[in-house]
Amino acid sequence: SNQYDVIIIGAGAAGLMCAATAGYRGRKVLVLDHANKPGKKILMSGGGRCNFTNLNSTPANFLSDNPHYCISALKRYTPQDFLELVDRHGVEHEEKAPGQLFCRESAKDILNLLLTECEWAGAEIRMKTTIKAVKERSDGYLVSTSSGQLTCESLVIAAGGLSIPTMGATGFGYEIARQFGLHILPTRAGLVPFTLQPDLKEQLSPLSGISTDVDASCHQQHFREPMLVTHRGLSGPSMLQISSYWNPGDEIAINLLPTCRIEEELLALRKNKPQSTIAHYLAQHMPKRFAQAFNELQGWTGPLQAYKNSDIEQIASLLGGWHIKPSGTEGYRTAEVTLGGVDTRQLSSKTMAVQDRPNLYFIGEVVDVTGHLGGHNFQWAWASGVAAGQDA
Ligand code: FAD
Repeated sequence: SNQYDVIIIGAGAAGLMCAATAGYRGRKVLVLDHANKPGKKILMSGGGRCNFTNLNSTPANFLSDNPHYCISALKRYTPQDFLELVDRHGVEHEEKAPGQLFCRESAKDILNLLLTECEWAGAEIRMKTTIKAVKERSDGYLVSTSSGQLTCESLVIAAGGLSIPTMGATGFGYEIARQFGLHILPTRAGLVPFTLQPDLKEQLSPLSGISTDVDASCHQQHFREPMLVTHRGLSGPSMLQISSYWNPGDEIAINLLPTCRIEEELLALRKNKPQSTIAHYLAQHMPKRFAQAFNELQGWTGPLQAYKNSDIEQIASLLGGWHIKPSGTEGYRTAEVTLGGVDTRQLSSKTMAVQDRPNLYFIGEVVDVTGHLGGHNFQWAWASGVAAGQDA
């Protein structure tokens, strides 16, 4: 029959998790998706090995206009809960950075886990299905699709955000939210590389391909992680993280030597080894190629003894706070996430349902909850999927 208890639109991380959870409750569940395969973003995540959770995830790792919203769901379905599921399925994993859990083999293991859970829970997944319209009825929803008219008691929107349109991302979730009178907070690309003005890009081109540990900051947010210079601009974890806090026109400050007391050390070096150079000092604290190229870029030549105190003060302040004004970001084309989205003030933090329409749910990236880099976004997809799956 074409009658379901729960229809979920979007066979991504949040939708599949929700489907299995609702299916195990005995609900008749159908997942619809226009793409040819489920979970495409899971497969491409974490460089193909899916950073599926972060053991240190807390609500502080999420951006939202309504920061308390995510707390309840994240507390009720924790990284440890997902890890137990991963272990039950025998998926081998490793902690690549503190708290960041990746598959040892392939992101396919996480997708297979979700598909197996859906199968065991009796949830049906129908791909290559276009959703033509959604209409409210007295007893639920009518979903018109390329494979016919379907009805359901509960409708869950898990259609993701706008990032990576080539992977099937659309604004569908926002359209449905608007159709039902919900407010959408402005969306923008997050966890995305910066682009630079042509002259700065050219100046930095000798550094292309080199990565160095930095402390990047913008709007009082600091990220101490590697930065990578690319032929397009600035990337690497610190830049991706700070991009989520950056607005067009903002400067970012980059401390290139976050472990050093730069001025003090340069003054001491000048005293003890007056023939030493800034290039030599830099090479002791950052990758040699980066040190050399950055030194050339700044034109710092000659022995330290030729530098006055005021010169050293200026150099130290540049190294400790290199201010850059990106021209933009690479946008949704390469962004890992979409910031903004369905305003959570209209949703229940317990069930993810719309407050005055309790059988319509929004989960995952489509809502205004965006995690830091490092497995937090999947943790939100799992937690919000479970919360809705337990209620729908
Ligand atoms: P999605 O996974 O995007 O799923 C949405 C689904 O809805 C898709 O299957 C899509 O086809 C479907 N859909 C969209 N529009 C329609 C429509 N009109 N009709 C029918 N179906 C539709 N996060 C981490 O935590 N760790 C990582 O390692 C990580 N790596 C990433 C790497 C990359 C390159 C990218 C792009 C993202 C990465 N992320 C990572 C973020 C993570 O992938 C997302 O936060 C997560 O996938 C969001 O899950 P979701 O279910 O809400 O949306």
